[in-house]
Amino acid sequence: LSEKIDAEADKACESEDGCRIMLMINAGLSVEVETAARHHGNGIGLYRTEIPFMLRESFPSEKEQAKLYREVLSCVPEQLVTMRTLDVGGDKPLPYFPINEENPFLGWRGVRLTLDHPEIFLVQIRAMLKASLGLNNLQILLPMISSVNEVQEAKRLIDQAFYEVTEEISAGAVRLQRPRLGIMLEVPSVLYQLPQLARHVDFFSVGSNDLTQYLLAVDRNNTRVAGLYNSYHPAVLSALYDIVKQADANQIPVSVCGEIAGEPGGAILLMAMGYRRLSMNAHNLRKINWVIRNVNLAESRDLLACVLTSHTHQEVFTHINQYLEQKG
Ligand code: PEP
Ligand code: MG
Repeated sequence: LSEKIDAEADKACESEDGCRIMLMINAGLSVEVETAARHHGNGIGLYRTEIPFMLRESFPSEKEQAKLYREVLSCVPEQLVTMRTLDVGGDKPLPYFPINEENPFLGWRGVRLTLDHPEIFLVQIRAMLKASLGLNNLQILLPMISSVNEVQEAKRLIDQAFYEVTEEISAGAVRLQRPRLGIMLEVPSVLYQLPQLARHVDFFSVGSNDLTQYLLAVDRNNTRVAGLYNSYHPAVLSALYDIVKQADANQIPVSVCGEIAGEPGGAILLMAMGYRRLSMNAHNLRKINWVIRNVNLAESRDLLACVLTSHTHQEVFTHINQYLEQKG
């Protein structure tokens, strides 16, 4: 099987009946970025900027960040790179920026922290903008958005950074392009404000890992409740289905970048729901390409219809496994 998967790895990701799925890579380490370059794919759907921050002993300067981001962007110059602003806090501590909280997952994480520290946010955005000069393949993604206010505040700071950098480089011949802006859908409140949010940003990206954690109120890293953490919980699947229907109705592009996008059953269900962009860890890319190439949309919709009648995640898995077995 793995030989078959490898043989078809470079073929376009399209179901038997012609449904095209854009597969992108989640990256954070430079080796993952290099994989994206080798893959000739659809770019980096999620670049986790906190990873290089976590590997250091102090905050990287604007210059250091710009150099790093430039390396990432120029590794895949023909493809889009979605860079997420710093998503620390929760399960991602920065050794040189200790945060002590009773409930870190409900506390100071993601955009909450960076909007409270505009100097961190501005330096990062300025570095991203400088790095994108002349390449223009940057998109910016905001993590942990829970309200329109946060989007407005972030946009105000991004505008500020844009004008500052434009001023700085005004002598040069190349003009700075404004990157497209997106938000992570991972805090449940945003599910009830999608039409409003769609008016403020250019794209959505579903973080199914955190969305699962927050919808089910289950710490994603607590082994004691690990049995309750499940992205195939019927409520999570309903939320994912609802998001893509609303995104389509509001004509805003939406992708999924959580783990479920890199799992065979998950990718098939997401395709059936209407998702056409999936971002995943590099090591899942070939497998998912192969899986999608060997299923058809019509059948996957029948599977989804069965799955949506399920009362439990066990029933969901039974339907998925039956389908996968029948496909061989
Ligand atoms: C997610 O929450 O699904 C996601 C992709 O982001 P992270 O795993 O980095 O929190
Ligand atoms: Mg997340």
